[in-house]
Amino acid sequence: MTNLLPYNTFGISAFASQFVEVSSVSQLQSLIKDKSFSEKPFLILGEGSNVLFTKDYEGLVLKNSLKGIEVTKEDENHIWVRAAGGEVWHNLVMHCVNKGWGGIENLSLIPGTVGAAPMQNIGAYGVEIKDTFEELEALNIQTSELEKFNNEQCKFGYRESIFKHDAKGKFFITSVTFKLNKKPILNTSYGDIETLLKEWNIVKPTIADVSKAVIAIRQSKLPDPTVLGNAGSFFKNPVIEILQFEKLQKDYPALKSFPAPDGKVKIPAAWLIEQAGWKGKRFGNIGVHEKQALVLVNYGGGTGKELIDLAYKIIDSVNGKFGVVLNPEVNII
Ligand SMILES: Cc1cc2nc3c(=O)[nH]c(=O)nc-3n(C[C@H](O)[C@H](O)[C@H](O)COP(=O)(O)OP(=O)(O)OC[C@H]3O[C@@H](n4cnc5c(N)ncnc54)[C@H](O)[C@@H]3O)c2cc1C
Repeated sequence: MTNLLPYNTFGISAFASQFVEVSSVSQLQSLIKDKSFSEKPFLILGEGSNVLFTKDYEGLVLKNSLKGIEVTKEDENHIWVRAAGGEVWHNLVMHCVNKGWGGIENLSLIPGTVGAAPMQNIGAYGVEIKDTFEELEALNIQTSELEKFNNEQCKFGYRESIFKHDAKGKFFITSVTFKLNKKPILNTSYGDIETLLKEWNIVKPTIADVSKAVIAIRQSKLPDPTVLGNAGSFFKNPVIEILQFEKLQKDYPALKSFPAPDGKVKIPAAWLIEQAGWKGKRFGNIGVHEKQALVLVNYGGGTGKELIDLAYKIIDSVNGKFGVVLNPEVNII
């Protein structure tokens, strides 16, 4: 039995009956081919920054520790960088920023591993990994063969990919390749990036400046999981029909919206949760963060059961007030 407390950013104590650190693809293949592998459930774990353990895990936890970053190809304008699935995402971002390769600097400081990034097409500050994603390699758990997925095959959407649907639980992502720009095109229009760069008197920002701005903004807004247990945004921003939005806006003129595919609109879950009165509320060892209503927190000693019960209460209350159903972004285990 292994306590998963050090392996999830919520800081939840939950025991796994078996725990193996995977540091090579051949080790993973041998594990999968072993007769006993199919006898129990398995869970792939990166940094545990997007999971909530609601009970002990009666199965095998495969902790991804595959390492390595390499350039696989380059031309005059682009560079293709492949990173192993167990690399820490922010380390990859810093590696690329330091080299001057642009495209993922807006995704600085997102916790987690490279291998988990395609799962929900991680995104922040107007950028998603799908914008620079070239391909990934994943081990098919059934066949123990490596397979490649290109951008289209991953079916990326807002916090979505094929790995949360048809391919769920069927693949272990071993590496991801990004196509980055040697002549970076900056995206500073989102959030407070531009304001901060101006405050810093930076007229011609570099990707390193953008990265620094993103880091500063994130540090000022989001709780650091090493200090306060959390998994970032607990809920996704709901995507609703335009008609429903227009009706809601009549009652709530302050409600904002952002364009979403198929003529729908995305509305901020944080605003809905705050209006429903949950922001900053504490219930014993758990609660809703005081600065960011989307983030549920564990003050220490809280359980996954307590957190999921709170999440359901928030879902019910937001649905009751606005007729909008929130969906968790965090993977509930
Ligand atoms: C403070 C904070 C801020 C955050 N901000 C953002 C943000 O701005 N944008 C954003 O998109 N996310 C954000 N997140 C969520 C999180 O950082 C991402 O979802 C990240 O990609 C999770 O990586 P991980 O390695 O921790 O995955 P884990 O939590 O370990 O796993 C997540 C899911 O992916 C599966 N998985 C993990 N690795 C693999 C693999 N190699 N192959 C197949 N399946 C795998 C797991 O089984 C699980 O279902 C934030 C989290 C925190 C704590």
